[in-house]
Amino acid sequence: MSRLCLILFGSPGSGKGTQAKFLRQTLEVAHISTGDMLRARVESGDSLGREVAGLMQAGSLVPDATVNRLVEDRIEQADCEHGFILDGYPRTVDQARLLKGLLESKQVNPLVVHLKVDYNVIVARLSGRRLCPTCGALYSVTSASPAAAEVCDYDGSKLMVREDDREEVVLERLRAYERQTAPVLDYFRGVGYPFLEIDGDGQPQAIAGQIAKFVEGREKIGNAKV
Ligand code: AMP
Repeated sequence: MSRLCLILFGSPGSGKGTQAKFLRQTLEVAHISTGDMLRARVESGDSLGREVAGLMQAGSLVPDATVNRLVEDRIEQADCEHGFILDGYPRTVDQARLLKGLLESKQVNPLVVHLKVDYNVIVARLSGRRLCPTCGALYSVTSASPAAAEVCDYDGSKLMVREDDREEVVLERLRAYERQTAPVLDYFRGVGYPFLEIDGDGQPQAIAGQIAKFVEGREKIGNAKV
């Protein structure tokens, strides 16, 4: 089987992280979330973390060179040997260009899935999102609430609102998406990557099933060509 690079594309709150968590198990590949990697650096307080903390809190993108370097290093790690899911990367056309070169040098052909969700649904989802600070589990106050209010089902930690899920920051993140990230879709179409557009406002497990089918179908085509 060829090495998989599945790019999960969509606005903040479109369900990329949730889908990546389902799919990394089904497809047995690594999950690369640039947002999680950056948050870990902010948490650790190292120099990169200190550099990007303000931008992230404001809902702005961090510089391309910073995320590109993180991704280049990450995909060299052993757990990416059979493939990886990119969640939240690329987010600018320049990132997409760098990724294209990187993948070509490794003879990896990416697949793109665009999770489409209505703007108002996104705003409601992000402001109702809760995070477990210990294990990273995500909840929603409306659709996927924990058994006991505001407490993680897995480890009993008190749930929190992510700093950048506050309403004014959410609106800035969505503006950054429209301005800098949405144009990446045209770039993907222009370079001819296999592409699946999917309604992201459905049952998460069913959406993951549709994506897995798309990936498996494309892999068969890819292998038949070899
Ligand atoms: P996420 O968890 O993917 O929504 O990312 C949270 C924040 O991390 C974003 O609002 C950006 O500040 C930063 N970030 C994550 N991925 C990228 C990226 N590919 N390029 C630039 N900034 C990013």
